[in-house]
Amino acid sequence: MFDVIMAGGGPTGFMLAAELRMRGMRVLVVERDTEPTKVVRGLGLHVRSIEIMDQRGLLDRFLEEGQRYPLGSMFAGIAKPPPEDLDTSHPYILGIPQTSTERLLIEHAEGLDVEVRRGRALVDLEQDEEGVTAVLDDGSRLRSRYLVGCDGGRSTVRKLLGIDFPGEPAESEWLLTEARLTMPVEEVMAMVTRVRETDLRFGAGPVRDGVFRIVVPAERVAEDRSVPPTLEELREALRATTGTDFGVHSPQWMSRFGDATRLAERYRVGRVLLAGDAAHVHPPLGGQGLNLGIQDAFNLGWRLAAELQGWAPEGLLDGYGSERRPVAETVLDSTRAQGVLMAQDAGSKAVRRLVSDLMDLEEANRLLVERITAIGVRYDVGEGHDLLGRRLRDVELEQGRLFELMRGGRGLLVDGTGRLSVKGWQDRVDLVTDTTGALDVPAVLLRPDGHVVWVGEDQEGLSALLPRWFGATA
Ligand SMILES: Cc1cc2nc3c(=O)[nH]c(=O)nc-3n(C[C@H](O)[C@H](O)[C@H](O)COP(=O)(O)OP(=O)(O)OC[C@H]3O[C@@H](n4cnc5c(N)ncnc54)[C@H](O)[C@@H]3O)c2cc1C
Repeated sequence: MFDVIMAGGGPTGFMLAAELRMRGMRVLVVERDTEPTKVVRGLGLHVRSIEIMDQRGLLDRFLEEGQRYPLGSMFAGIAKPPPEDLDTSHPYILGIPQTSTERLLIEHAEGLDVEVRRGRALVDLEQDEEGVTAVLDDGSRLRSRYLVGCDGGRSTVRKLLGIDFPGEPAESEWLLTEARLTMPVEEVMAMVTRVRETDLRFGAGPVRDGVFRIVVPAERVAEDRSVPPTLEELREALRATTGTDFGVHSPQWMSRFGDATRLAERYRVGRVLLAGDAAHVHPPLGGQGLNLGIQDAFNLGWRLAAELQGWAPEGLLDGYGSERRPVAETVLDSTRAQGVLMAQDAGSKAVRRLVSDLMDLEEANRLLVERITAIGVRYDVGEGHDLLGRRLRDVELEQGRLFELMRGGRGLLVDGTGRLSVKGWQDRVDLVTDTTGALDVPAVLLRPDGHVVWVGEDQEGLSALLPRWFGATA
């Protein structure tokens, strides 16, 4: 019997598996594909995901393989510098192909001894009081106490649970490839610039030695998007949009994607939950889907582990859906808005100019940057101090950096008073005393995902709050 089975081994599935395994859970990732995909969908990590990698000690590896770019131009491609005092010690975008992110997450999970079964798809599931039975396409039946559908936008798990996926269907489709071109690079780039003056849906640029990444609108929405386009279809699409096919040849891979925007009605049915694209899909504007999935996993991992370890207070597991669904809703809206702002009709262009002017106002710019980077996420953990519900940025404390001190994945009380205690919860909550004044507040209690749930200085208030997040004393 596994503790948790992840159906789907994309970035969300492996991130979640690692979050559970580091807490001692016995987990299995079931992945339909025999090998990790070569298709490079996402191109980068935003601030909150970068911070999460730091909180897991993985950031150095990501930095080695990625490239830092300045923040800005993230919202509908409107170029504005970010606010100077952004609340993070990682104020950049990390450009890194999704294939590299996935490989690093797989290595992280495998380093923790996560079990993986490749080349097997989940085709059915049943659940009862004790657990879930996952049925795979070879007829094998596996038992686990919980199962999480991390199986992407066309999630089998979501369909088997009968969870509605309302929203807008794809109206447009794009072809995506990395391929070689016979046209000289200067001519290609001049053409790209010219076409993008009137059509922001098209893009092409060199990625490595003679290989270009190309995104081009398709003529129509394919019936089955899992079937990759042919080279001839790609050439036709290029000719239709730009007047030339650039002499495209030798594609490394080809893929297609659409602009469907949908959000699962619920994130949980009994012992089965959804995370990542299985719970939300939207166009890639602003580059947020993979980030959202990683952050879903970071929110869910400790809750599910707490449930399995038997100390989760009532409602802790359901808090995953009630916190993460509204975050996804905001991201969906952001991509809807960006879609309008990138359209070429006179009305949309006028709104784009207006939004661009508004972004010159620091607070408007800050709101958009904090949303896309996800550092503005504020969960409803109750009224009070401004920090409540937000994740705390990394701070240098007497005993080390905050994010380093959180690598064990437990709760953390940072006590600037030197008087507070977590006695009774030491197995779930660490205590760091820091009287250097590094914090602007007397003391904060952080959940394992780094979000602030208490700010104060009195033991009574702290002791009253601890059970809400960390259960009864041991
Ligand atoms: C062109 C493009 C550009 C993008 N750019 C960005 C970006 O810059 N930044 C960003 O954050 N996001 C971006 N995204 C979105 C990002 O690619 C997705 O949000 C991300 O891959 C979601 O991860 P996931 O693990 O939830 O799902 P997926 O990556 O879809 O993984 C799901 C996995 O489940 C497996 N699976 C499916 N069904 C089953 C089954 N029945 N049993 C077992 N396994 C199954 C699949 O084989 C797959 O490996 C982009 C997307 C596109 C299309």
